[in-house]
Amino acid sequence: MKESQFNIIIEDATTKKTILYNSLYGTLTLWKSSQFNLANRFLQEPNLPLTNIKMKTIKSQLLKGKYLIRANIDEFQILRTRKLHGINDPNRLDVVIMPTMNCNFACPYCYEFHQSGTQMSDQTARAVKLWLQKEVPHFKVILLNWFGGEPLLSYKLIISLGTFIKGLCIKHNVALLTNITTNGYLLNKSRIKELIQVGYHNFQVTVDGPAELHNRTRILQDGTGTFTRVFNNIVLLAQAHPKVKISVRVNFNQDNLHSIPELLKLFPSPIRSQLRVVFEPIFGENSISANDNIPSSEISISLTKYYSLAKKLGYDVTLGNIQPGKLVYCYAERNNQFIINYNGDVFKCSVSTFDPKNRIGSLSSDGKINIEKEQLSVWTEIDLFDQRCYSCKFLPLCMGGCRKARLEHGNTGSYCALIPANTSYALKTIAFGSFSELNRINIRKKCQTTNCSTSGINLNKTLKNLSS
Ligand code: SF4
Ligand code: SF4
Repeated sequence: MKESQFNIIIEDATTKKTILYNSLYGTLTLWKSSQFNLANRFLQEPNLPLTNIKMKTIKSQLLKGKYLIRANIDEFQILRTRKLHGINDPNRLDVVIMPTMNCNFACPYCYEFHQSGTQMSDQTARAVKLWLQKEVPHFKVILLNWFGGEPLLSYKLIISLGTFIKGLCIKHNVALLTNITTNGYLLNKSRIKELIQVGYHNFQVTVDGPAELHNRTRILQDGTGTFTRVFNNIVLLAQAHPKVKISVRVNFNQDNLHSIPELLKLFPSPIRSQLRVVFEPIFGENSISANDNIPSSEISISLTKYYSLAKKLGYDVTLGNIQPGKLVYCYAERNNQFIINYNGDVFKCSVSTFDPKNRIGSLSSDGKINIEKEQLSVWTEIDLFDQRCYSCKFLPLCMGGCRKARLEHGNTGSYCALIPANTSYALKTIAFGSFSELNRINIRKKCQTTNCSTSGINLNKTLKNLSS
């Protein structure tokens, strides 16, 4: 018998109770302090003789929760196997299409290099279709994500390719999940109707606060603010169909963090359940970086408060479970995942500079992805976990850190960037609440498609909420 490597112990100073959470098995137990003293003895000495009923009861609780496990169990092997399942998952195909690198906005914190005039040609669009025609029948689910630049600048393509993929999926009985990450400016009533008819129900739109603040950062190329139009389009979109779900993302720093409650009160109550709020810190130059200008404790306290407020006001706040069972760190780790740029270049990471030296292949006109083996192997042959992950109790929740950061910086970062992509709010709360090093490595770019950034919330509080 031995103690699991992934027991996390949290003492609650107010109630004097102790939370024991296991991040591999997802078990959670609340102990009175008198009970926990004994439980803790078993964790230190798993083979302690059982001399009375109380000891037997406590030990059986520890075994049931897998806080104590058989000595021959290799928990890292469980995690390696799990991660390989995720990487090699034959069931899902993740496709991100970047139809243009152009954008109608000029947000000061944007990390992309916009290229005006770029647009997917008819020939590349045909190649994408040919490729999908061959690939779709082999999968159970297709995840189609539109990103850019501003993808709605290529509205016609979104409609024609969306219709095509939908048809393919119906024909081959394959599930289709779609998402469009857009600044929301180019939506209008008739487009919304058509997008919904084609089957687009999931969107991500950024609003950086009420009008006065949003209009400072979410600006058109000529500097004009966009709040009224973006806000109205979000409302129209949500009202158009009950199936529509919109991630309303607020990129915050010291200038607009405080304005989140005011923004939350602006959206009409009846649509709030369709809006999933996501608050993300702005990265980049010191003057605009949230983490450089707001103490982490303040971020933590404010976000805890604002997510609670959002929940109270009727928004979709994905608290969910702590998600044990995560397979990979982010989608870019999966073999069947491709980002197709407007010119047919293929990438893995959505925070790439999208220049040829980073691509892992390119799409040829006959619909074949010609893989650049050397480039791809740089991406795929990195160890499953960073060295430091082997002593990290959060490994089962994180699954090993951002591959781009590991490749570029040689490790997961000076403050461990537990910035899990596709993660829930609850998981992020664990991340930020528990790490003492708060100086993030200077990843100046961040992943918008996958929400890969961290929010500052308090772990104790989260676990308490989950255990109540
Ligand atoms: S990347 Fe960081 S948080 Fe994630 S498992 Fe590794 S050490 Fe832990
Ligand atoms: S930046 Fe890291 S987490 Fe985001 S897509 Fe790239 S590899 Fe994944």
